[in-house]
Amino acid sequence: MGARETLERLVVDVPDFPEPGVVFKDITPVLADHAALSEIVEALAAAGRDESGSTVVDAVVGMEARGFILAAPVALALGAGFVPVRKAGKLPRAAYAESYDLEYGQATLEMHEDALAPGARVLLVDDVLATGGTVAATVRLVERAGAVAVAASVLMELSFLAGRETIGDLPLTSLLTV
Ligand code: 5GP
Repeated sequence: MGARETLERLVVDVPDFPEPGVVFKDITPVLADHAALSEIVEALAAAGRDESGSTVVDAVVGMEARGFILAAPVALALGAGFVPVRKAGKLPRAAYAESYDLEYGQATLEMHEDALAPGARVLLVDDVLATGGTVAATVRLVERAGAVAVAASVLMELSFLAGRETIGDLPLTSLLTV
């Protein structure tokens, strides 16, 4: 069994959440299962290692809110620090802000200006890649800090939303494509 089979077994499809017509992927049963949680954290962390198993990133960035849950243990597994990217207005100190378009309206993500050292190599971690707007905005935040986004790692990619096109050349590891 691998991470993909684990996700297929435990992720629950929730029809019409958060609005009619959307099928929401609920990952909470994966988090509640210790063996599954260990397996997916290790699989996400692989994107931050080279072939010999050495860590090649300095920091792991997680996006609010489910990205936090996954990125912090990935950072520990890699021996790297964790940096939160938050929704607008939540961070207490000077922060960079990047906005992106939603189906209706806009969203803004923020990151503390001093969270990443210039030149730091960064792995982005989130639960789901949908349209790719969240990952693309986070890449811009990392670049504003003078750091380098080297890869993104997600549990699931919703391929019908073409997020891969939005994130361009950024290498993406997705444990399950649906
Ligand atoms: P995007 O910006 O790629 O359109 O959306 C990705 C963001 O929305 C991620 O931060 C993710 O947590 C959230 N998201 C979108 N759809 C789903 C879903 O079906 N399940 C979960 N768990 N998160 C989703």
